[in-house]
Amino acid sequence: MQITGTHFNYYLVCQRKLWLFANGINMEHASDLVYEGKIMHEKSYPQRSTRYKEIELPGIKIDFYDSINKVIHETKKSRKEHNSHTWQLKYYIFRLEKAGLEEVSGLLEYPKEHKTEEVFLSQPDRERIREIETDIHAIIHREQCPPKINKPKCKKCAYYDFCYIDEEQE
Ligand code: SF4
Repeated sequence: MQITGTHFNYYLVCQRKLWLFANGINMEHASDLVYEGKIMHEKSYPQRSTRYKEIELPGIKIDFYDSINKVIHETKKSRKEHNSHTWQLKYYIFRLEKAGLEEVSGLLEYPKEHKTEEVFLSQPDRERIREIETDIHAIIHREQCPPKINKPKCKKCAYYDFCYIDEEQE
């Protein structure tokens, strides 16, 4: 099975979310989330939209790639899931590298917070990504759904009702 950017992101956010999504229980459309990021980028940086290219690989769609400077631009709403944003971008760089594009870097952009951050892929990162890919395969093929994580971010998750409906009724 081809691991997608969404699988990778969900693995970092919550392994239960990854399992639910991969096993066909879909409460949100990954494409809507991608679309939201794309719209925010277009609104925040309208001058760029025509300059940057869209790149598509199996399971990955990069909306804004600056092919001259070899930079992937990824726009996010807030830094709350900063760690998963960084690793998602590293995963994109990793996949481009596997497709033959070398010396690519990333730029994480948080226009609402006026912050940008460069992202690079190191050798330990490549090893970590290979481990994560193995882990993702193992998690999604488990018989049992991983347990709830009971974290504040659950309240904003599209699976909240699914996960906590019993507790709400108590
Ligand atoms: S509500 Fe919480 S436990 Fe359930 S999938 Fe979302 S993040 Fe994971």
